[in-house]
Amino acid sequence: MTTFDIRYTVPPNFEQLKEAFFVKESDRILYAYHPYIYNPSGIEDISKPLLHHEGVHMDRQHGGLGPLAWWKHYCENMQFRLMEELLAHRAEYVEVCKHPHTSRAQKRAYMVAISKRLASPLYGLKIRAKTVKALLPAMDDLRVMAKVLSMEGQAPLEDGLVS
Ligand SMILES: [Zn+2]
Repeated sequence: MTTFDIRYTVPPNFEQLKEAFFVKESDRILYAYHPYIYNPSGIEDISKPLLHHEGVHMDRQHGGLGPLAWWKHYCENMQFRLMEELLAHRAEYVEVCKHPHTSRAQKRAYMVAISKRLASPLYGLKIRAKTVKALLPAMDDLRVMAKVLSMEGQAPLEDGLVS
C-alpha cells in the first residue's frame, strides 16, 4: 500500500459532510480525500488496519470518479456508500488477519467490532451488524464484485484483497 500524507484539518468537503452525517470537527473520524487523509480531531494512534481502510477509499477515488464525485455519490447514494465501506472494512479486517500474532478470538472480536461500526448511525446505512457480518466474508468472491463494479464504471478491484 502506498503511504499517504495526513493533514490535521477538516477535508475540503466538510460542509457537505456536516450536512449529510452531522459530524463535528472534534469527532474522532478520519476522512480520505485524495491525495490526503484528513484527521481534524488529531487522532494520534492511527492503526495500520485503519490506514488500509482509508487507503481503499483513496485508491477508489483516485482510480475511479475522483474525490469530488466520489464523495457526492458517497453522501447521496446509500448503496454506493455501503459498497465502498464494505470494501474498506474488508481490507481493514484482512490487514488484522494478516498479522501472525492475531488469534482466532481476536479476529472474531475485530469482525464484530467493524460490523457494529458499519451498522452504527454514523454511516446512515440502515443495516444491522448481523447483516454486515454476513456480507463481509461473502465478499471473498471478488471476481464477481469486480465484474459488477466495472459494469457500474468503478475502478477494478485488487486481487490481493482476499485473506
Ligand atoms: Zn470508510
